[in-house]
Amino acid sequence: MIYHSTRNKALCVSSAEAIAQGISADGGLFVPASVPELSAADFEALKGLSYAERAARLFKLYLTDFTDEELRECTHNAYETGSFETPNVQEIATLADGSMLLELWHGPTCAFKDMALQILPHFLTRSIKKTGIDREVVILTATSGDTGKAALAGFRDVPGTKIMVFYPEDGVSSMQKRQMQTQEGENVRVCAVKGNFDDCQNGVKAIFTDPDMQKALAENGMQFSSANSINWGRLVPQIVYYVSAYVTMLEKGILSEGQGFALTVPTGNFGNILAAWYAKQMGVPIRHLVCASNINKVLTDFIDTGIYDRNRDFHATVSPSMDILISSNLERLLYHMTGEDDAQIREWFGALKTDGKYQIPEELKNRIQAEFSGSFWDDAATKDMIGKVFSENGYLSDTHTAVGICAARDYSAKAAEQLPMLIASTANPYKFGKAVLEAIGGDTGADEYEILDRLQEKSGMKIPAALAELKTKTVRFSDVVSGDEMPAYVKEKLGIQ
Ligand SMILES: *Cc1c(COP(=O)(O)O)cnc(C)c1O
Repeated sequence: MIYHSTRNKALCVSSAEAIAQGISADGGLFVPASVPELSAADFEALKGLSYAERAARLFKLYLTDFTDEELRECTHNAYETGSFETPNVQEIATLADGSMLLELWHGPTCAFKDMALQILPHFLTRSIKKTGIDREVVILTATSGDTGKAALAGFRDVPGTKIMVFYPEDGVSSMQKRQMQTQEGENVRVCAVKGNFDDCQNGVKAIFTDPDMQKALAENGMQFSSANSINWGRLVPQIVYYVSAYVTMLEKGILSEGQGFALTVPTGNFGNILAAWYAKQMGVPIRHLVCASNINKVLTDFIDTGIYDRNRDFHATVSPSMDILISSNLERLLYHMTGEDDAQIREWFGALKTDGKYQIPEELKNRIQAEFSGSFWDDAATKDMIGKVFSENGYLSDTHTAVGICAARDYSAKAAEQLPMLIASTANPYKFGKAVLEAIGGDTGADEYEILDRLQEKSGMKIPAALAELKTKTVRFSDVVSGDEMPAYVKEKLGIQ
């Protein structure tokens, strides 16, 4: 499989190069030249296999410069060495209204990001070797809270790598902040940024694409890569879990072969929902994709009007991992849906950078609406839904997942055709304990650990060990910089001029 840049179709790289570089030097994102299709027999052949075996087979379709053995090693290391608390890696729960939750948060940091970030380091170190460059990889990551911790956990003490994570100082939950500040490992660094997630992401993108910075790194035997969902190596593992979820639903008799279903994804950077769209292109019978947002509803507006406009107030919500106004992966969708029109992508994303805004033609908007719809939900609706699902089903949902449930129910209520509904459940509720406890009527006047205990008492759901143990860990990182100071900070911490 060959990969192009969304901003330069003539650029052709291997999957190893795409993963090693993270983002294309022209600012574009790497995309596969074609999307492999799965037949009914291919889906059949995935039945009965473990998650790691399924993943290895599916990776083979995209990462063609890896051997079967390498891929199986990677999936074994990621999914079969005990870092996921359930042997199935992902689970499906059913609510009283028949909708299903695809639980993607059974990994070591309690959010769906682990599904990809437990395997990315294995892809990346092998990719670097394959590209024949003997350099240390410096992972720079902007996070709205969950990517940071998942990337730190994945890259901790991986030989030949260093990782630096930037998070918005006041834009993450206290549990998320603790998780990052207490990270152990010799090759890790965490820093808060005065600003929001977009400031962190812009800062990281600017550092990546700065030629002077790249030169300075190369002179010191280093090279940047990304653990954000702009890296293709993050998206493929996400495609895998949607294919695998379909196969599991077939195995369990929830769906019959080829039976269509609707899928709702709580969305921020558009990575998770884009992975679902790729799964659909591969042949998973997803009939409709519901893009769920909180009040940072730039995507709902885009789907409704065809105008992407980030010039608006940024709101901090109880679903902080979706507090994003620049959804990077939309660029990949538009590249594919415009028939790979790289000139058009350059124009739109140039406009996004200079004016914060672009508009797609009516015809394209209509095609997007045929596949996607979007809706947004505020904090009050989110908490109401957590309370409702808890009292109706005894099921505790996190804030992001609750935004998804709101959007899914709204879509089903209005849809002409009733389809089985699968909702991506993206985080363990304990990660956002304060808001969740409030939503089910608990007393939240306490510190974050007391909140964990109260939530356990009230819900009966077990506190994840990874969160309980934070209490005894020391804070290692408390640096704070402004967006402008990020390049100097990176240079200083890497010891380069
Ligand atoms: C990252 C994240 C999201 C948003 O996913 P995107 O791929 O950025 O759209 C939603 N929920 C949780 C819990 C997350 O960590």
